[in-house]
Amino acid sequence: REARHSAARCAVFTGDLDRECSRNLALIAELHRAIAGGQLRLYCQPKVDLASGAACGAEALVRWAHPDQGLIGPDRFIKLAENAGLITPLTDWMLGAAFRQLYAWQADGLHIPLAINLSARDLLDARLVERIHGHFLTWGVEPANVQFELTESALLEDPDRSLETLNELKDMGVQLAVDDFGTGYSSLSYLQRLPADSIKIDQSFVSRMMAHEGSDAIVRSTIDLGHDLGLGVTAEGVEDLETWRRLTTLKCDLAQGYFVSPPLPAAAFAAWQVPAGLRQMAAH
Ligand code: C2E
Ligand code: MG
Ligand code: MG
Ligand code: MG
Repeated sequence: REARHSAARCAVFTGDLDRECSRNLALIAELHRAIAGGQLRLYCQPKVDLASGAACGAEALVRWAHPDQGLIGPDRFIKLAENAGLITPLTDWMLGAAFRQLYAWQADGLHIPLAINLSARDLLDARLVERIHGHFLTWGVEPANVQFELTESALLEDPDRSLETLNELKDMGVQLAVDDFGTGYSSLSYLQRLPADSIKIDQSFVSRMMAHEGSDAIVRSTIDLGHDLGLGVTAEGVEDLETWRRLTTLKCDLAQGYFVSPPLPAAAFAAWQVPAGLRQMAAH
């Protein structure tokens, strides 16, 4: 009876897995067409300088405008794209969209740095640097306004090769940031060898720092570590005024999070302004 019971439970369990699996397979098939078929959207989330309250860049984030399911976030499809070999076309779409946007801003006299996320698979692609170079040739945007965000775990898939690629990217004049900092396992000696310009403290620490002394300690020491290594420090996941204030006291450089602004459709970004309250607070 016990065996039958657990067999039944098992069937329920694999039933769920099967359903999830076939949902994912369907999504992969659709994603393939979505990339070529114009269903991806570029969203931009502002980054603000904590000391001055000035807007000083944005992160490019992909969304999928699915015909039936509405707007789907990247947490739902980036992993699938990686596993299905679709990350190269997805990254190419993103590079095209981000460079086109930078070109449009530049033509309007706006000089806004835009950060593009790269995945582990991108870093392992021997043609990555060449692909990025192609977008520079097409759009003629200023390299200083192009930033790439790489997670520690992506870098560690092949640390030596990542280092080589990052040095080649750096030679193009772009900015590099280590994303989700604190969640990976990179050694400090590896970090020290990276030609990075900044680190982004993972939102899991930032969003908990006011309620959790341990998270505050991690944020505090990461800011000091970054500065001691000559790196800029961005806090992601800033969700309230108290966290903003605390990060200002700790001399963190940039803040990104729902408290400042959610990711916005790219077309709406140029008109976005730092909330007046934040600018006034920074002025005092
Ligand atoms: P990420 O690079 O760490 O991006 C920050 C994520 O945090 C974004 O989620 C953003 O919407 C979210 N976020 C911003 N402020 C807050 C906040 O105050 N609270 C909370 N809880 N979340 C906040 P999103 O857009 O869903 O992206 C998730 C991840 O998907 C990104 O994490 C990035 O790793 C990946 N991703 C997004 N776009 C791309 C892309 O074009 N290519 C690749 N390879 N990965 C991408
Ligand atoms: Mg990022
Ligand atoms: Mg991040
Ligand atoms: Mg993240």
